[in-house]
Amino acid sequence: MDRNSESVVIIGGGVIGIACAHYLNQAGYSVTVLESGSLAAACSYGNCGYICPSHVLPLATPDALREGLMSLFDPSAAFRIKPRLEASFIHWLWQFAKRCTKRQMLETAEHLNAISESSAAEYRRLLANEIIGTEYRQSGLFYVFQTTKAAEAFSATARTAAAQLGVQSSWIDGSDLGDFDSTLKPGMAGGVLFPDDASLRPDRLTEQWVSMLKGRAVAFREGVRFLGAKRSGRLITAIETSEGLMEADHFVLAAGAISGRMASHFGAALPVEPGKGYSITLDRPAQSPRVPMLFPEHHVGITPFDSGFRIGSMMEFTGFDRSISRRRLDQLRASASHYLADDLPKSNVEQWYGWRPMTWDSLPIIGAMPGTDNVCLATGHNMLGLTLAPATGKLVAECIQGQTPHIDPSPYSAARFG
Ligand SMILES: Cc1cc2nc3c(=O)[nH]c(=O)nc-3n(C[C@H](O)[C@H](O)[C@H](O)COP(=O)(O)OP(=O)(O)OC[C@H]3O[C@@H](n4cnc5c(N)ncnc54)[C@H](O)[C@@H]3O)c2cc1C
Repeated sequence: MDRNSESVVIIGGGVIGIACAHYLNQAGYSVTVLESGSLAAACSYGNCGYICPSHVLPLATPDALREGLMSLFDPSAAFRIKPRLEASFIHWLWQFAKRCTKRQMLETAEHLNAISESSAAEYRRLLANEIIGTEYRQSGLFYVFQTTKAAEAFSATARTAAAQLGVQSSWIDGSDLGDFDSTLKPGMAGGVLFPDDASLRPDRLTEQWVSMLKGRAVAFREGVRFLGAKRSGRLITAIETSEGLMEADHFVLAAGAISGRMASHFGAALPVEPGKGYSITLDRPAQSPRVPMLFPEHHVGITPFDSGFRIGSMMEFTGFDRSISRRRLDQLRASASHYLADDLPKSNVEQWYGWRPMTWDSLPIIGAMPGTDNVCLATGHNMLGLTLAPATGKLVAECIQGQTPHIDPSPYSAARFG
């Protein structure tokens, strides 16, 4: 269908906004992406780069409540909640706490699995044919455990994910770890490999993707801030920006962690809280691990890129805090060193923080903005925005076209917030 006469403005130029631009452009719309800063320089920049359909378990697990409470007394905890007397945050925490049950966890896992699988398939197609130079590798994701207790608890979860959702994994015993990857310290209990996961360098992905879309006539406007909306009944007729009014037939809100604040301009309330994480990027060590790895007992992940080596982690609910704590960066390095045999390069090439767009049920928000007929939401991707970007873009294009969606979109609808 030729939709060139219909225009879409996407608010937010992170990986989600870019993916929406891709599928809307493919559907024939005239697309403009507005970005208040630089494209893909916020949460989509320095993340760990995992495309991980294995990550089907939400943040809200039965253990999360205990960990969250403990963190009130331990500022070095990787998962940390700093109490704030803000009604929206208290409400968010209450809803999150209510979901920390096994039943809710498995239900959420099913919904995450559906969209992750769709996304992984889209990525395989896109990265094979269209977007190159992203340092993509389909080498799996390896979870390494120091203690047998932690390994057994995790293996039980992996078995549940395999039985209920078909997520494939294999156990590698501690005595065989040296053969699997000689960069690991001896004495680990073992690890679980998820072979269907992949990784890439997120900044290279967005750079290449934007460059390809520019060649297909998508307009990207950096340094332009969305400020408000003009409406006529249920229709948004234009948006106010730092460079004046912009009219369009359709709008997409893809402003990451800021989306909760932005939604109020459309008369809606969205429970999106910033979940702050950090990463450091180093030169690639002389002896680099072969595959990306997670060390769940220290809540830290490493990603070997062709062009470097990243360590990332932490989940802080501390509001829109822009500081980069030296202590946190040192903690990343120290945590990875518990597992890696060789010393890491001494200096950081880059240090970074990002605000993950967190919803209390760990599910993204995709589909119609309540109270409007021409605004679509694409936000709340929690810890999985990179992984879920293509399927999100595809769902958004289907929603705007009024097409039958390729997967059931109801679990991701904003209608669930009442
Ligand atoms: C340490 C860490 C590691 C992670 N690792 C992974 C991983 O391995 N795999 C994975 O799948 N996910 C990972 N994530 C999560 C992932 O990074 C996020 O879910 C994802 O980047 C969110 O993308 P987004 O486009 O929604 O948000 P963003 O990238 O934050 O983009 C939103 C954009 O909207 C713009 N914006 C905001 N307000 C306005 C406005 N008023 N006007 C115009 N523009 C505006 C912002 O400037 C920003 O560029 C990780 C996150 C962290 C912190």
